[in-house]
Amino acid sequence: MTRLNFQLEATASGSRARAGRFRTLHNEVLTPTFMPVGTHAAVRAQRREDVLASGAQVLLANTYHLLLRPGTALFDQFGGIHRFMNWPRSVLTDSGGYQIFSLPGSRSISEAGAEFKSYVDHTMVRLSPESSIAAQRSIGSDIMMVLDQCVPSTVERAVAQAAMELTHRWAQRSLAARGDSPQALFGIVQGASYPDLRALSARVISDLPFDGFAIGGLAVGEGRDEREDCTAIVTELLPADRPRYLMGVGTTRDLLEAVHRGVDMFDCILPTALAKQGVAFTSIGRRDLRRAAYRRMEGPMDPDCDCSTCAQYSIAYLFHLQRVSEPVGWQLLGLHNVHFYMRLMRRMREHILADTWQDFYRSQRDLLDARDSYGRAPTHVTKAQRLEGKRKLGRYEVVVRDGVGRIRDTRSGEVMHSVSEPMEEARLLYVEQSRLVERLKGPAPLVVWDVGLGAAANAMAAIQAAEPAVSGMAGGSDVAGGSDVAGGRGEVAGAGEAAERRLLLLSFENDLDSLVLALRHPAWFKHLRHAAPRRLLADGVWVSASGAVEWRLLRGDFRETQAIAAAPDLIFFDPFSYRTDGALWTLAAFREMQKTCAARAVELFTYSYSTSVRAALLAAGFFVARGRGTGPKAETTIALSPLAAAGAHGRELLGREFLAKWQRSDAQAPLGVDPMDESWRAAVLGHAQFHDVGDGC
Ligand SMILES: [Zn+2]
Repeated sequence: MTRLNFQLEATASGSRARAGRFRTLHNEVLTPTFMPVGTHAAVRAQRREDVLASGAQVLLANTYHLLLRPGTALFDQFGGIHRFMNWPRSVLTDSGGYQIFSLPGSRSISEAGAEFKSYVDHTMVRLSPESSIAAQRSIGSDIMMVLDQCVPSTVERAVAQAAMELTHRWAQRSLAARGDSPQALFGIVQGASYPDLRALSARVISDLPFDGFAIGGLAVGEGRDEREDCTAIVTELLPADRPRYLMGVGTTRDLLEAVHRGVDMFDCILPTALAKQGVAFTSIGRRDLRRAAYRRMEGPMDPDCDCSTCAQYSIAYLFHLQRVSEPVGWQLLGLHNVHFYMRLMRRMREHILADTWQDFYRSQRDLLDARDSYGRAPTHVTKAQRLEGKRKLGRYEVVVRDGVGRIRDTRSGEVMHSVSEPMEEARLLYVEQSRLVERLKGPAPLVVWDVGLGAAANAMAAIQAAEPAVSGMAGGSDVAGGSDVAGGRGEVAGAGEAAERRLLLLSFENDLDSLVLALRHPAWFKHLRHAAPRRLLADGVWVSASGAVEWRLLRGDFRETQAIAAAPDLIFFDPFSYRTDGALWTLAAFREMQKTCAARAVELFTYSYSTSVRAALLAAGFFVARGRGTGPKAETTIALSPLAAAGAHGRELLGREFLAKWQRSDAQAPLGVDPMDESWRAAVLGHAQFHDVGDGC
């Protein structure tokens, strides 16, 4: 029985993510958990009651700093840190090892311990495994850490090995020094970035009777991949019945990845350190509150947050506080960030317990890392802006630039067609580039998928181009009511012999508020001055007077509705970006589309030309070509089904230079893939596009 009596409650399917609980001298701790850093017995710029309100269960304090100031005598007088800072919950103290080796200043190291110069009074201070434990006993933490020798994770092997072996010997001495203290003690696994040293260290340390195990020496110079690999190697070897703590890590994304690999506890200064720089972690990615885009923005910084900052202050006010360097701005942002971290950990725990971890993990990993792009399309203050109420519906709002309306998703801040005039972009990127009009002369009907109806710019551009082109093609004037099955495969024929369908346009959308909102403002959305959009909203279908064009709405989640839709010839893939519509950009979503397209010659057009989206399309089995640029975008992307690629397509397929660029990229993985599954990599590298070309004879 260890001092913490750790209970493993659940491990998520298909992951090492686990939920557990343990009891310290002060409270029960539910894991996974994050420990706010209180370096000098205070979380920077935070009141302890606010930290308590965030749900923090353990506070981390730094032995090194507290040893120098206020000194252990004061803790002895107060009977420990809990009474000194009036903190009723658990405290974990580090050993001082990390600071000795990471802070500037002279120091020496020997078998006995480390010697360094105090930054307070410049006297020499000795820290040995025994004196570190003695200091932590005075501080009275619930969980103490052994003294370790921390080296940069990138040092040469001999140095890493020597530091690891010294850490192992010090671990034994620390255990002996702890004696019968009721305080828990964690061992620390070292070994820099060498997998075999990490594995050896994990075995040696976990053979000792510690109450928990930490992974030290990461987040000190290595890349994210290396860190995650080392973490996975170590967690695999650590006993399941004691908590695991990844020291000093990291961003919200780092925490998610480490939980996925079996880590239970974290600490990091980032929530308060980045708050000082004006950066907030939010449910829609990072936000930089110093950006002028936020100057006038009303509403909370994070619409999905229940912290007191988000409940009480607008983003414009927080921007202003940053602007004038008002200390309370730092405090308010830090409060939110700590709250966000704690809430994220609770959500992780809930999903592990409910065994819905995998979906949660996939939905969060890119979102958490998303960088701030709010305000790329600045809006002008117009008379119309006073009609604020009319400009919002559900999660959308209208923004107007140069007299043309666009739809913004208020949760992510993203604007549809933000860089070009929407109808212009729809014509160039989708209608013209797909040669829609030309194709209407081919076998009928031409089936076009419009993924992401939005304000119907692409659909109306297609209809405007198709109507005059097909008016002479259809045999009569019988207005058919459309087929009974919603464009279901093989059910697309019209009702009468006279009304041959030339174009079947299928629009996919799960939230019609964007179209409803745009229809309220015909002055800004001129393309909607047509009978079709209102009829589509009312009946789910519109058929042109000639009967040649049918437009259908498939409402719901695209990944479900596409299964019942008529297979396409063309796909206009124009949803919001992955930050807003993450599920549509995943490898799984592209694979489903490719399956639907496998037996047909299909071309897909999308505005994205990100390396990772292109890699996902390749991994899913599409051939990928460069599309034309639009506005400031140098390129867009065209994906071809294998049958389309086998024909005379005239597209400019990406060559091997793309592979080289992709391999240099730090965003190689398609969105939403399991990091344990690397099959996509082989699918990209081995893609026929890069191996069968140029073989004309
Ligand atoms: Zn908040």
